[in-house]
Amino acid sequence: MSGEAILECRGATKRFGDFTAVEGVTYKVAEGESAGIIGPNGAGKSTFFNLLTGLFPPSEGQIFFGGRDVTALGAEGRVALGLVRTFQLVSVFNSLPVLDNMVLAVTRFSPNFDSTPSFMMGSAHKKRITDACLEQLELVGLSGLERVITDELSYGDKRKLEIGMAMALKPQVLLLDEPLAGLSDVEITDVQELIQAVKHQFTLVIIEHKISRLLTLVNRLSVMHEGRLIAEGDPDKVLDDPLVREVYWGD
Ligand code: ADP
Ligand code: MG
Repeated sequence: MSGEAILECRGATKRFGDFTAVEGVTYKVAEGESAGIIGPNGAGKSTFFNLLTGLFPPSEGQIFFGGRDVTALGAEGRVALGLVRTFQLVSVFNSLPVLDNMVLAVTRFSPNFDSTPSFMMGSAHKKRITDACLEQLELVGLSGLERVITDELSYGDKRKLEIGMAMALKPQVLLLDEPLAGLSDVEITDVQELIQAVKHQFTLVIIEHKISRLLTLVNRLSVMHEGRLIAEGDPDKVLDDPLVREVYWGD
């Protein structure tokens, strides 16, 4: 890893009762890099993202973003600073039209638009927001679907919407939790290409099970197992590490 760490975690531990889901994890992401995280189910990957993004506080340890200690800052505060994530299971309002999901993301969280409720906005302001949202939907390949109720989208298109909503917040760091999970092969290629096309816009951390796909998107790989990071670095070397082979593939 080169460059300054934009996101860093020192000795982060998360316990749920007697169970330790994440244990003493120290991790750094350099500005502009694309990093991948793999690990078996239940390894603690999503919990780790929850700690980084402030969904809940660590039991021990600290999280830094842009050099600032954000351990005590909640998720919304971190989003406002530019730390944005997507969820393993797509997280959008299914009952709303596609465009409205984007408008909500932008008006609720984006630092680029003030968060005045829409009933108080002037029409020029509304138009500016709508235009920006339409443009963002086009960028993620959802043009023509703006008025469709989100629940009627394919899972792949919902995933694109979620990534588009995250991107609309102009994050500095974007964390994607299994962006390819649950998709058909065609949809996987589609979303993979979307991530490929936009990844230069931010620092990226991707949790993903589909390793060959992940390796087209990242240049550093970390492996989590039973709450700990057990290997990290150049993907080829990491995948060849005997410990990784043992825990990940049962070699
Ligand atoms: P991964 O994303 O690597 O599959 P998770 O982070 O989702 O793993 O889960 C790691 C472990 O922590 C699992 O055993 C899971 O059951 C447990 N866990 C996750 N979240 C909670 C929670 N909110 N309460 C209790 N246990 C949890
Ligand atoms: Mg997970």
